[in-house]
Amino acid sequence: LASRDFHPEDTIIDIRGVKIGGENLVIMGGPCAVESPEQIDEIARLVKASGGQVLRGGAFKPRTGPYSFQGVGVEGLTMMAEAGRKHGLLTITEVMTPEYVDICAEHADILQVGTRNMQNFDLLRKLGTCGRPVLLKRGFSATYDELLNAAEYILAGGNRDVMLCERGIRTFETYTRNTLDLSAIPVLQNLSHLPVISDPSHGTGRRELVEPMAKASVAAGANGLIIEMHTDPDNSMTGDGVQSLFPEQFDKLLRDLEKLAPIV
Ligand code: PEP
Ligand code: MN
Repeated sequence: LASRDFHPEDTIIDIRGVKIGGENLVIMGGPCAVESPEQIDEIARLVKASGGQVLRGGAFKPRTGPYSFQGVGVEGLTMMAEAGRKHGLLTITEVMTPEYVDICAEHADILQVGTRNMQNFDLLRKLGTCGRPVLLKRGFSATYDELLNAAEYILAGGNRDVMLCERGIRTFETYTRNTLDLSAIPVLQNLSHLPVISDPSHGTGRRELVEPMAKASVAAGANGLIIEMHTDPDNSMTGDGVQSLFPEQFDKLLRDLEKLAPIV
């Protein structure tokens, strides 16, 4: 079902007038984690003011260590939904387990599957019937074929609104957190009709690389970007402050991107 042979035309996912896929460029921006109502409200305001369409933010965070901040949980979902409503943005949040799919689907417009869960097949099956579009992140050691097979689990359940996300893979290089695989963008678009979103934040792990890699992703044909932005990155509650743009940088990036593709 994910294959272009099966479905030659690009899939365009229309969420309350925001079209994802085809010629459109969708911008998802926001913090790694929802921290407080004030934090997410202010960041939502800034994302909207810069021209983004989707507010990102994790209420449940998949952390490498069990003692790190794990996210604010269900309350974060309501904080984010409220900020999205107030500022006229769609919302995207990560869901980590099948049990939480329903509550996340109730509060968010798009559900994100994180890199660590790309092959959590129970989760993928549940997302097949969740009634919300899904952004499926590539596993950090997954091949294109494995990513497309993971998407197939969601599609097979009846949910045809799946976006693929390149978020960097693990290589021998340690200077960057991951290696953003730009080739994934045209390869996945050749193999599949599903929209391809690039995540230059996790793909590089370094703030100064987000702008060039965001532009490179758009030049390579990405249908959208998901970018971390924070009003106070140095004091953010996850380690991802180092890769989060300041609001001014996010704004400038969107001004530059408008010259490359229509943000609609
Ligand atoms: C995130 O989007 O904050 C995140 C945890 O992403 P990934 O699953 O790509 O690491
Ligand atoms: Mn993050």
